[in-house]
Amino acid sequence: MTTQNIVFIFVLIISISFFIYNVRRLISYLKLGRAENRIDKPFQRLKRVLVVAFGQTKLLREPLAGLMHFFIFWGFVVLFSAIIESIGEGLYSEFSFAFLGSLHSPLIFLQELFALLVVVSILYAFFRRIVLRPKRFENHSSAEAYFILTMILFIMLSMYGQSATKMLMHQSVSSANIVSANLVPLFSSFGIETLTIFYHIFWWIHVGLVLLFLNYLPYSKHLHVLTSIPNVYFSKLTPKGTLKTINLSDETLTKFGASDVEDFTWKQLLDSYTCTECGRCVAVCPANITGKPLSPRKIFEDMRHRIYEKGAALPKNIRSENSDESQPAQKHVLKNKLVDDYITEDELWACTTCMACMEECPVMIEHVDSIIEMRRYLVLNESRFPKELQVTFQNLERYYTPWAFSSASRADWAEGLDVPVISQTQDAEILFWVGCAGAFDDRAKKVTRAIVKILQKADVKFAILGNEEKCTGDSARRAGNEYLAQMLINDNVTTLNKYNIRKIVTSCPHCLNALKNEYPQFGGNYEVIHHTDFILNLIKNKKIRVSINVSQKITYHDSCYLGRYNDVYDSPREVIENITGEKCLEMKRSKDKGFCCGAGGSRMFMEENIGKRMNLERTEEALALNPDVIGTACPFCLTMLTDGVKDKEAADKVAVKDIAELVAEAIDQ
Ligand code: SF4
Ligand code: SF4
Repeated sequence: MTTQNIVFIFVLIISISFFIYNVRRLISYLKLGRAENRIDKPFQRLKRVLVVAFGQTKLLREPLAGLMHFFIFWGFVVLFSAIIESIGEGLYSEFSFAFLGSLHSPLIFLQELFALLVVVSILYAFFRRIVLRPKRFENHSSAEAYFILTMILFIMLSMYGQSATKMLMHQSVSSANIVSANLVPLFSSFGIETLTIFYHIFWWIHVGLVLLFLNYLPYSKHLHVLTSIPNVYFSKLTPKGTLKTINLSDETLTKFGASDVEDFTWKQLLDSYTCTECGRCVAVCPANITGKPLSPRKIFEDMRHRIYEKGAALPKNIRSENSDESQPAQKHVLKNKLVDDYITEDELWACTTCMACMEECPVMIEHVDSIIEMRRYLVLNESRFPKELQVTFQNLERYYTPWAFSSASRADWAEGLDVPVISQTQDAEILFWVGCAGAFDDRAKKVTRAIVKILQKADVKFAILGNEEKCTGDSARRAGNEYLAQMLINDNVTTLNKYNIRKIVTSCPHCLNALKNEYPQFGGNYEVIHHTDFILNLIKNKKIRVSINVSQKITYHDSCYLGRYNDVYDSPREVIENITGEKCLEMKRSKDKGFCCGAGGSRMFMEENIGKRMNLERTEEALALNPDVIGTACPFCLTMLTDGVKDKEAADKVAVKDIAELVAEAIDQ
């Protein structure tokens, strides 16, 4: 055993020990979080890891940056063998993978090829950050990124240096070394002793940087190198738009929602470890874009900092805030909370729950769930919420709708339309869920009537719940008022089950999401269809005939709760195509990249006093296409865009219409 072997073994033991110490420390902090079962359905989870982590599908949504990361990721996977070989050499100087025989050359070829791809990707990463400067990196330090990128670059270059000098030392240049063979001339004038020194320098740089990189990870945002695959594996498998239920009858619960790290689940804490600070979420967040004090990235950076702060302050094995063993200095830290001391109320209430952040996040972080947990804490424990919500909550309690209308007038819109009510009909095949906006809002009522006209024209046997329908609870739930939401949900489930309802059509994507994805948590299992899907089927099955009006230029605005939450993107567009004979005009931000109108997450019922109004931002984007009609398929979007068009003084030129209205008009012609 050489002196170098002995020194290396010493360095390796220290490095691995320090790394294990840090991993154990981080895992012990995760144990602060609440329990949650995320180990079910292993095959489904593995499939997601293959697609999202190994396929890098989320990153590839941004093609160039995605490709760059793809090569770095796969470079590390392939080069793991080179790192093992170098470490093997440190333990035993003669170690090599040459024993692989005929497989050795292909392995070297792959290592050299992927190292080259990594080098090119790293250079592009520098170019991007220094020259292109994407907006999502603004106001965010790049120092750590430069440090890591430089480290990776030198790990690759030192590997090439090692190979080039080794080939000269053994006087055999292999064609498998597609890069390092070309570096050989740089060293060919040196004698064997100098080459040996060079070789050892390269080797120490290579393994030294690898060990430094490993131990730097737990202290940096690059912790995601270790946590992103587990985070993807443990990501939720329930429908995307489903919130977790609180068991309100659990008497052991002393607090609802989350105000500090121990109130989140271990998975939510793992989310914060995994945030790469890439800013993809910030770049698409409508609240952030329009100047609100919300950055989805900051939520998870704050959570991570708070975990580190609180985890370090807690004595080992003690996870109670009231521990007498806490030192005075620690007590101050323990008194802090994530909500208020790190994350403000304004940040939390700015979220529209549009889920654009979750759609983009390459490591499957669940932003909306954590934000709602904190809203739940504010509402259910502290009664802290924007004052406008006071009225909304009161209306929901008294009238079962966010607006102050008597529930006895819920079916007034149907007067003279011959609409059957479920309690008085036997042969309804579907239930038409009208929703609060569809029942009470004057503009949305026109859409409701249009749907009725279509259903009647197609001879669909349908009925409504009439005065027995109540708000689905979506707005209360997204506003953090789980108590009120569950009251409404349970009442509706009782009513729906009483009539043995199996199939529901609704025009409101918020109702759709609640009924389809969240009601099963409360014993309500129904087939729920959005009216755009239903109408398209009627057209395809020739149950209704629409005449083509080519003179209309229509653009379509995606509702977040219809698109991102429930993947309904094509049906509204196909319906438009049936009406105009042409594809609809697409806004720059459309489909899963669509921009929220600003009404989701109960924002419909709150003032928007900070920054630019989101509906204006969206309306401007639509008007830039110079359309005759802005089409939509959600009553909230309809209101927001109608207001936007009025504010832009374009109402005389551009109409905002629901897809159902467009179809009802086309039936007439
Ligand atoms: S859900 Fe939408 S508004 Fe909320 S943080 Fe994510 S992107 Fe921003
Ligand atoms: S939350 Fe996801 S998208 Fe946002 S910065 Fe972190 S890793 Fe990137």
